[in-house]
Amino acid sequence: MFDRASVVTPGGVNSPVRAFRAVGGTPRFMVSGTGPYLTDADGREYVDLVCSWGPMILGHSHPEVIAAVQEAVSRGTSFGTPGEGEVALAEEIVARIEPVEQVRLVSSGTEATMSAIRLARGFTGRAKVVKFAGCYHGHVDALLAAAGSGLATFGLPDTPGVTGATAGDTVVLPYNDLDAVRAAFAAHPGDIACVITEASPGNMGVVPPAEGFNAGLKELCAADGALYISDEVMTGFRTSKAGWYGIDGVRPDLMTFGKVMGGGFPAAAFGGRADVMAHLAPAGPVYQAGTLSGNPVATAAGLAQLRLLDDAAYAKIDAVSAELRSLVGDAFTKEGVAHTVSSASNMFSVFFTDEPVRNYDDAKKQEAFRFTAFFHSMLEQGVYLPPSAFESWFVSTAHDERAIERIAAALPAAARAASEATA
Ligand code: PLP
Repeated sequence: MFDRASVVTPGGVNSPVRAFRAVGGTPRFMVSGTGPYLTDADGREYVDLVCSWGPMILGHSHPEVIAAVQEAVSRGTSFGTPGEGEVALAEEIVARIEPVEQVRLVSSGTEATMSAIRLARGFTGRAKVVKFAGCYHGHVDALLAAAGSGLATFGLPDTPGVTGATAGDTVVLPYNDLDAVRAAFAAHPGDIACVITEASPGNMGVVPPAEGFNAGLKELCAADGALYISDEVMTGFRTSKAGWYGIDGVRPDLMTFGKVMGGGFPAAAFGGRADVMAHLAPAGPVYQAGTLSGNPVATAAGLAQLRLLDDAAYAKIDAVSAELRSLVGDAFTKEGVAHTVSSASNMFSVFFTDEPVRNYDDAKKQEAFRFTAFFHSMLEQGVYLPPSAFESWFVSTAHDERAIERIAAALPAAARAASEATA
């Protein structure tokens, strides 16, 4: 299948990190998923610790999500008109996340961040955007400067095709460094439209914000008249009922969402202060649109998923994550592998270093070659991890004792492989 795909698709994949370039080998083509398990085209079953990069927080093929999708599909798949499903999904988001007074639905996280920075520029009449090295906000031209995720994996500082003019208004700063943000505001007073940050980064591995970092960003933005945009595409509806906002309580001007809110379908959103959102077309002059925005099937899936995510669901996900973090840490300790299990709520990843990791430069100092050996051993033993040392691992409510036992059984040999790996 990969050979076939490579003929008709660049690199054989539709999103770069899926290609296994960071770890080598042939990507697995999955044919089905049930609960915490994926089955590949050769009929092998894996415990899934990727969860489609976050969306599948209830596991695969959750019966109530599938039923909602089937019901929606039976009524038609796209109308290009307003519909009740999108209103209900927007109401659910507004009800959960207090700073979101109004929300606009889109189809991908990339669209959400792209539109949010356009709106911030339109609202403030300013051009510059501050972002942090290692934070990934999708493949928006202006934000593909020192981004994480696939770019971290490939070690590309930037990408051909993004012009100097486009990236020239992007100021890239080291993460967790408020002095650098202060200096940027001092260097460009009245020119910065917004600071965009991952609410808690998961695209350089998991690197949580230091105590007071997000609050400091908010304060510096407010003092200068810039907007504070919290990108919760990954953390939203995952790290708590109200995402990372539910944890740190720092009130953003705008927020972006995706992944979990689509229930495995392409649905994403941006929203926030009503006075800012009022600048968006057709209410205001800042243009933004989408043929499939608020798609009835995607919104039905997202709404069904969000309605199932109650306090008990988050308690379950947090407990699974805590158990796995401890199993993973113990396995590496036993083999004498230098490591840090870094977590932010139920998101976590392993850095192959025992030095503190506070930003992208720290993350890149890890012995990533050990991850390659670890990854392949886990894969051989039927555990599907993100194919890169710079990605968060994701768990779901469906990860039961049996799934955890299978992971636990695979860890000793994989930790040994990591300890024996050479650069
Ligand atoms: N923002 C963050 C924090 C993300 O993690 C991602 C994707 O991983 C995006 C934005 C882009 O979302 P999408 O891949 O849906 O375009």
